[in-house]
Amino acid sequence: MPTFLLVNDDGYFSPGIQALREALKPLGRVVVVAPDRNLSGVGHSLTFTKPLKMRKIDTDFYTVIDGTPADCVHLGYRVVLEGKKPDLVVSGINEGPNLGEDITYSGTVSGAMEGRILGIPSVAFSAFGKDNIMFDEIAKACVKVIKEVLKHGLPPDTYLNVNVPNVRYEEIKGYLITRQGRRAYKETVFRYLDPYGKPFYWIAATEFGWHAEERTDYWAVINGYVSITPLGLDLTNYRAMKEITYLEDTP
Ligand code: MN
Repeated sequence: MPTFLLVNDDGYFSPGIQALREALKPLGRVVVVAPDRNLSGVGHSLTFTKPLKMRKIDTDFYTVIDGTPADCVHLGYRVVLEGKKPDLVVSGINEGPNLGEDITYSGTVSGAMEGRILGIPSVAFSAFGKDNIMFDEIAKACVKVIKEVLKHGLPPDTYLNVNVPNVRYEEIKGYLITRQGRRAYKETVFRYLDPYGKPFYWIAATEFGWHAEERTDYWAVINGYVSITPLGLDLTNYRAMKEITYLEDTP
């Protein structure tokens, strides 16, 4: 029976993590360690300037007070599982997509990245939808992907960013391996006045704007496919290495 370490960035109360917890239970042991609040956009941050406390909600179900997704993976692995590696770190299901450059802000994807850094195969799941997300349906697609990953394994240093369209399981067109797409950036800083007449600002992405190039993550989900993007820990831009040799200066 495999052991899953389940995390998210929306908080332990999120319907996305609850649905995935229930869907994974028939497959093995599911240990949930999740933040006590919505930390979407927190990225890969790890808390090392203050102590962390963990609270037990239920059997194999914990929340970390003011803890980030990366903190949750750490405490889940080192404390709850006492340093025994789970078979898979699973992050999500996030309420909303994680596509293109947005994955660099994503706490959901960072949960999987942290698992991979600790040497554990990891998968992040996000729902491509805004309202009325059918988490129970999406969880079925997640389980299908997880079963395949358990069967075949992942290459070294690889973790997956999976985005699932918000449709009934039977309506999914298929599963595609994709590359990370590009966002078409729109105005995201909003200016308002407070009751005293002083301006304040709110950063928000209110609409999706994307370059829908074929075989990108975004292209897959708008066309009804589950998008599976393999990610790595090495952020080196290999093509650029040859183009910036002018910076090299050796005696
Ligand atoms: Mn989130």
